[in-house]
Amino acid sequence: KAKELGRNTYQFYQPEMNAKSLRRLSLATELRDALERDQLELYFQPFIDTVYGQICGVEALLRWHHPIMGSVSPIEFIPIAENTGMIVPIGQWVIEQSVKRYAEWRRKGVKPLRIAVNISAVQFRQVDLAEQILRVTNQYGVPPSALELELTESLLMRDVESATAQLRRLKALGFTLVIDDFGTGYSSLSYLRRFPLDGLKIDRSFIAEVNRNTDDTAITLAILSMARSLRLHVTAEGVETREQYEFLTRHGCHETQGYLFSPPIPEAQILPMLLQDKPAPGLQEISQ
Ligand code: C2E
Ligand code: MG
Ligand code: MG
Ligand code: MG
Repeated sequence: KAKELGRNTYQFYQPEMNAKSLRRLSLATELRDALERDQLELYFQPFIDTVYGQICGVEALLRWHHPIMGSVSPIEFIPIAENTGMIVPIGQWVIEQSVKRYAEWRRKGVKPLRIAVNISAVQFRQVDLAEQILRVTNQYGVPPSALELELTESLLMRDVESATAQLRRLKALGFTLVIDDFGTGYSSLSYLRRFPLDGLKIDRSFIAEVNRNTDDTAITLAILSMARSLRLHVTAEGVETREQYEFLTRHGCHETQGYLFSPPIPEAQILPMLLQDKPAPGLQEISQ
C-alpha cells in the first residue's frame, strides 16, 4: 500500500518522518567520505576482571565527529553503514586500527590484554573474513586470541548453518568469539552449545536493575549459571554502580564493563590507564 501511494505521501502526512529520512540520506552520503576525511575515531572502554579488579581488556567503539552535525552516535550510523555497504571498509578500518593500537600498547609495556571489536552482520557474511583478519594480526604480530570478535545473537541465528561454518573458520585461526548483548535476541540454547564460543556479554538492559528488579535478577543469575555449565566466560555490560559490581562479583561473573570504571575514552586517555596495571580508579575504593 505504502508503495502505491508513493514517497510524497508521507511528506504530506508525516513531516517529521521526512526529516528523519532526509537526515538518514545525508548521513549515508557523508559517511562515504568520513574515513578519508579522518572523521572516524576509535574510543576504548576497559573490561575489569572481578577477581583482581584489573583491566583485562578493552572494547573499541566507533565515534564519528561530523564537522557540522557534531558527534553522531554509532546507534544511528552503523545501521546506515550496513544498508549502504560502507560497513565493510569501515569494519576493516576498525579491525586494523584496533590491532595496530594494541601492538603499539604492547611495545610500550602494556601487559597482554584482549582487544574487542564489534562485527556487523554484513561483515560476518564475508566468506574470507577469517583470512582477512588473520592477515592483519599477522602483519602487526598480534596473537589471534588477543582479538575478541563481538557478534550478536540475531546475526548468528539468522542462518545457523553458515554462521556455524563461519565461527569454526574464525575459531580455527584462534580468534576469541563472544556473543554481545546476550539475552536480547532469540538464541536457542542448543545452538549456543554447538557454536564454538568463548564467552557472552550480558546485555546492559538486565544489569541496569540487577538486584532490584526480580525478573532482571533472575535472568542474570540464569545466564551466569548456564554460562558456567557451558564453560563460557561472562562479561556484564553497563555496570554503573558499586552495588551492581558487587552483586555480579558475588555470583561468579568474570568481567564487568561500564561507567563505574570508565566510559569509552580516546586512546590518549586509555593508554595511561593500561600502563598503570593497578586496579581501575572506580575500583580502588571497592577493593579496600
Ligand atoms: P555495544 O557493542 O553493546 O557497546 C556497548 C555500548 O554501551 C557502547 O555504546 C557504550 O558506550 C555503552 N556503555 C558502556 N558502558 C555503559 C554504562 O555503564 N551505561 C550505559 N548507559 N552505557 C554504557 P556506543 O559506543 O554508543 O555504541 C553503541 C553500539 O554501536 C555498540 O553497542 C555496537 O553495537 C555499535 N558499534 C559501536 N562501534 C562499532 C563498530 O566499530 N562496529 C560495529 N559493527 N558496531 C559498532
Ligand atoms: Mg560490543
Ligand atoms: Mg554490547
Ligand atoms: Mg549493548
